[in-house]
Amino acid sequence: MEKKEMLYEGKAKKVYATEDPQLLIVDYKDDATAFNGLKKGTIEGKGIINNQMSNRLMQHLEKVGVPTHFVRELSDRETLVKKVSIVPLEVIVRNIAAGSFSKRYGVEEGKVFTHPVVEFSYKNDSLGDPLLNTDHALALGLATPEEIGTIEAYARMVDDFLRNFWSSCGITLVDFKVEFGRLSDGTIVLADEISPDTCRLWDSKTGEKLDKDRFRRDLGGVEDAYAEVMRRLVAHDQ
Ligand code: ADP
Ligand code: UDP
Repeated sequence: MEKKEMLYEGKAKKVYATEDPQLLIVDYKDDATAFNGLKKGTIEGKGIINNQMSNRLMQHLEKVGVPTHFVRELSDRETLVKKVSIVPLEVIVRNIAAGSFSKRYGVEEGKVFTHPVVEFSYKNDSLGDPLLNTDHALALGLATPEEIGTIEAYARMVDDFLRNFWSSCGITLVDFKVEFGRLSDGTIVLADEISPDTCRLWDSKTGEKLDKDRFRRDLGGVEDAYAEVMRRLVAHDQ
């Protein structure tokens, strides 16, 4: 399958058409951004790690009953995926307080929740991805009630799987963001990516951050952290 015209260049990936109107090729870049694009940089090798990690995790998720856009890995940085119409919701699941949750509600980073928190943000860069609830999403016509039910159920399944998976790699899953989309027949599937760009991952023993917070907060060792997460994933899968 070959790339045709570039349809979109985002902050972390480029998206290309293919000869099949139902399929796209995503091409992962090393570019990193944070704070709604205000901070920019490069994380050497990130595109390769995020491509391979996301593909492995999506194949695991398919096995536990979460349908995904994944079709086939084409190269280090490129993957063939099913084309979806993205539901403009950033679906965030939190197991431990961190980031915007800690800031918004004045909760110390590290507080463990007894029940995972699912929250939605409106995927709209010019508005700064504002937090919204189900009624807001319905009022804005972003999805139907059935779609929101499906998305929330899948998000919780993704959390259950990832929490256990990362735990057996010695990694604590703090929180993550996923996106869902509609296939041409309306089926909801998991799309976009799952990687250290979109998850908070802490070493279970030391608490060391192994994710994009190293970039956001200028902690150094960003490349090493991404490589360490990938190394543990590969070791787990063998
Ligand atoms: P951003 O748009 O936030 O800068 P990226 O650089 O990751 O993000 O760009 C990838 C874009 O492709 C995102 O807007 C994402 O919603 C979209 N996308 C991800 N998977 C699919 C898919 N299977 N079909 C169509 N669009 C997708
Ligand atoms: N996240 C993401 N993309 C976004 C916003 C958040 O991938 O545009 C991820 C982020 O990496 C973290 C989780 O979603 O794992 C929760 O992020 P939070 O709301 O705390 O926002 P942040 O602190 O990144 O502003």
